[in-house]
Amino acid sequence: MRMSKMYFRTLREDPSEAVIPSHKMLIRAGFIRKEASGLYSYMQPGWRVLRKISQIVREEMDEKGAQEIYVPILTPKELWEDSGRWNDYGPEMWRVTDRHGREFCLGPTHEETFTDIVRTDISSYKQLPFFLYQIQPKYRDEERPRFGLLRSREFFMKDAYSFDVDQEGLDRSYDIMYDAYNRIFNRLSLTFKPVEADTGAIGGSNSHEFTAFSEVGESDIVLCDNCGLAATVEKAECVDAAPQDDVEMLPLEEVETPGTKTIDLVAEYLGLDKKQTIKALLFVTYDEETMEENGYVAAFCRGDREVNMTKLVNALGIPEHCIAFADEHEMSEATGCVGGFTGPKGLHDCTIVVDSELPGLKNLCAGACHKDHHYINMNYGRDYTGDIIADIKLTKEGDPCPCCGKPVHLTKGIEVGQIFKLGTKYSESMGAYYSDENQQRKPIVMGCYGIGISRTLSAIVEQNHDENGIIWPVAVAPFHVIITVMKPKDEEQMRLASEVEEALKKEGLEVLTDDRKERPGVKFKDADLIGIPVQITIGRRAGEGVVEYKLRREEEKQEIPAKEAIRRAVDLVRKEGDGRCFIK
Ligand code: ATP
Ligand code: MG
Repeated sequence: MRMSKMYFRTLREDPSEAVIPSHKMLIRAGFIRKEASGLYSYMQPGWRVLRKISQIVREEMDEKGAQEIYVPILTPKELWEDSGRWNDYGPEMWRVTDRHGREFCLGPTHEETFTDIVRTDISSYKQLPFFLYQIQPKYRDEERPRFGLLRSREFFMKDAYSFDVDQEGLDRSYDIMYDAYNRIFNRLSLTFKPVEADTGAIGGSNSHEFTAFSEVGESDIVLCDNCGLAATVEKAECVDAAPQDDVEMLPLEEVETPGTKTIDLVAEYLGLDKKQTIKALLFVTYDEETMEENGYVAAFCRGDREVNMTKLVNALGIPEHCIAFADEHEMSEATGCVGGFTGPKGLHDCTIVVDSELPGLKNLCAGACHKDHHYINMNYGRDYTGDIIADIKLTKEGDPCPCCGKPVHLTKGIEVGQIFKLGTKYSESMGAYYSDENQQRKPIVMGCYGIGISRTLSAIVEQNHDENGIIWPVAVAPFHVIITVMKPKDEEQMRLASEVEEALKKEGLEVLTDDRKERPGVKFKDADLIGIPVQITIGRRAGEGVVEYKLRREEEKQEIPAKEAIRRAVDLVRKEGDGRCFIK
């Protein structure tokens, strides 16, 4: 491909809304263009990378015997009513209505469609097990689309589904996909880890997220170097502080604490450690169907802790979009809470959720539900109780590991894929049954397996860049070699460029030749920004057949004969490109 003919342009400036490297660089390098919030066009190089990632995913799925199909992006409301998710899914679901008033959604995921296909086609155990998958755009009306392809409203996903006769079958299918995912993310040159995950809106029992390590990631991961625990903070159990069984309960006392609306202020005012206080968080909940307010929730944890929203909604048994922070004034009238001075004693008409470690802790300080007053020496059972007691707290750096007790550490990552054991959630609600050897009717046991193809593209850039631009791993690079011609007007230079280009193409390599009439400085800058792995520069020694050879990821440049440069480039791509990652 000649750059002078290519529909393509790089930008000098970072786009103003981009804050993370992959977003900035993919736009500046001309790989993607923003069309609207969370909606991107892929220009030629970006689309080539996306196709290569898809190709690797496809090869590994096919290798495991999964069969690729295509289903419509638009899915009818009735399917989602069958599974109960039309309401559960919430505002992220992109709903549309046809000219006859029939409702549909742009698929945010496709459990319903795949279950529908299988429920009409499968009748006997002899037809099971199998995997189906597809690669296509998904739509989610994200509350805050951001970070370019990392959280967009249209994004590419590979979604696969497994169908088995029983739990053991599902366990086997899950292991097969787990293995495929490890192979895929290794081939994509990502540094990643499978971590135990919460099952969220999808439902089911076990789940793993495949997390690419990155500072800009939105997933918080709990890791234990001692026992190998790896889990998302939503999933990781946070160990309760040891119960203070031998501490005596002191008499409850209401004390004046003027203006101490935060834990820090009240702890300082009373000379207490924050661990001796109780923190309150106030929420309003909504009905899943009508989305009308249907109650208040007060959640309490130790003053030095934070509440984890996923754990809280799981404890309440409601979807995440059915809860929001409450308006203190409105809630105050209904429940007796007082902003900044709310405690579990004195509240009425609301669901009280108490973190699991509080009942074991003695003589705590909490808001008295009177302005400028707190209680001291609050004790569970005697002074307050909860409607729900559950682990709703967030794990912090250094907390004891729930498996071995050693201190854990926290790190950030990008969730590039997630796999779930769904069990019979969808087959039972949607009626996907088979008959076994004894003519018994049984629900098909399902798993589902997603990879964010476009998010993965961004994650690769996050892990592979420097201050000058992207450094593509060979396996997914849009082209393998960039030939920069210093003076395209010079016939000798262009002749050698063409020879090198042809020789590389003959070996199957993908070559981009920068023959634009730009200053060399501009071309070198662009070559670094675009990040093609091998950089061959043809300049004043073209007559002698000598070129400059450099790898994007290394500092060192060498002047070598063109033949040697070709040999090196071919060797590199054979070795690191798996020999398989070419645009077909
Ligand atoms: P998140 O928690 O980041 O919102 P999710 O858990 O809702 O993601 P899944 O339903 O598991 O996502 O979807 C499968 C994969 O699709 C995810 O692992 C992720 O890689 C990708 N994905 C999900 N939402 C987006 C998005 N808005 N933009 C890009 N990729 C996404
Ligand atoms: Mg997920």
